[in-house]
Amino acid sequence: MSTVLNSTRQWQDEDRDHHLHPFTDINVLKKKGARMITRGEGVYLWDSEGEKIIDGMAGLWCVGLGYGRKELSAAAARQMDQLAYYNTFFQTSTMPATELSGLLAEVTPEGFNHVFYGCSGSESNDTVVRLVWRYWDMRGKPGKKTIIGRINGYHGSTLAGASLGGMGFMHAQGPLPLPGFVHIEQPHWYVNGGDLSPAEYGLKAARALEEKIAELGAETIGAFIGEPIQGAGGVIVPPETYWPEIERICRANDILLISDEVICGFGRTGNWFGCETFGFEPDIMTMAKGMSSGYAPISGVMVKDHIVETIGDGGEFAHGYTYSGHPVSCAVALANITILKDEKIIDIVRTDTGPYFQKRLGEFADHPLIGEVRGKGLVGAVQIARDKKSRALFDDVGRVGGICRDHCFENGLIMRASGDSMLLSPPLVVTRAEIDEMMDKARMCLDLTA
Ligand code: PLP
Repeated sequence: MSTVLNSTRQWQDEDRDHHLHPFTDINVLKKKGARMITRGEGVYLWDSEGEKIIDGMAGLWCVGLGYGRKELSAAAARQMDQLAYYNTFFQTSTMPATELSGLLAEVTPEGFNHVFYGCSGSESNDTVVRLVWRYWDMRGKPGKKTIIGRINGYHGSTLAGASLGGMGFMHAQGPLPLPGFVHIEQPHWYVNGGDLSPAEYGLKAARALEEKIAELGAETIGAFIGEPIQGAGGVIVPPETYWPEIERICRANDILLISDEVICGFGRTGNWFGCETFGFEPDIMTMAKGMSSGYAPISGVMVKDHIVETIGDGGEFAHGYTYSGHPVSCAVALANITILKDEKIIDIVRTDTGPYFQKRLGEFADHPLIGEVRGKGLVGAVQIARDKKSRALFDDVGRVGGICRDHCFENGLIMRASGDSMLLSPPLVVTRAEIDEMMDKARMCLDLTA
């Protein structure tokens, strides 16, 4: 940078002139300029104008421990001094990568004893695709290469991640999805459930998988992938009947079940992993975000023993990233998971802050704009609807949500809009008083929107 930037305006101009942002409309950015976030502490952020903001989204669903935890920055600094980088290719390893692998085997459900590292959720889902393909080749069933995901699922932005995902607006900028990726409906009772009860609809939505398998032939399908709760798709909490039925269908058809735990993992739903909350046992889990509370980029693919053994029979798995098992990220993740355990943060989410958050969120059911409230643990959404009785949404879905999001932003609350669903996913360390502050601000902003 050649000039000294003294004012917010100058920072914004520099940013606009040289920084291409993810998922951002460049023309809107040109008009408004990016809000420069400068500092964080607990659940709060401050911008370059000194405005305090309560972060209802934990960054991008990731800052579980909140901002400013010195134990995590100290862990990173210590590891940088000791060994800033070495790789885990070609028969080498490092102590943080090894120690973290053991800890992950301890905190994940039984049968998960191996992890493959990356730096992002997208990378971990790319890894899954290659693992699934390799697995079926080794099992002597090379035809089982198609992977089934869900409409509005989000699994990342790489070509495989965006193909696994079912985001229409991303596919439209394709050609996406790539061949070999297909999608079934999302288990969104409010929109798709019609006259069925949530429990009946959960079974119906799961059986869309059975129908898709019958249509394509089980001999062509390698895996099914889903987020326990669809996050970016609108915090779609499936009925309780959904996941057990999905698991039954996968087992009956010899199809691998993949749980994308990038959002739900590490406590978000009140258990270590979302599959535990919804009572199903995947063969593979992908994780990122909450693994390091976002303090360093890291992701993992947890793989069940039987898959590791099958793939191992084929010699080298020709896949990996320079930063797989990066020692600094591993050291930060180790410190993060140790704090989650030692401070019993996930127990607190399950028994105290999660239920309180859901109770406060539930109060929005009486708001004239809100058709449905849904959530689990410390993640939730309120669904903006045009007509509460018929459950009809506004025709131009996304417009009202966008207005509400902007009101939140201007009033010191970060809430995300997914279509006309307003989402909250605060840091796991949020207190009851901070939940009250978020909910009160959210109500004020919904009132401004109505
Ligand atoms: N999977 C899920 C469920 C996600 O929510 C995300 C990101 O939001 C990803 C994967 C992709 O992760 P990343 O942005 O780290 O590549």
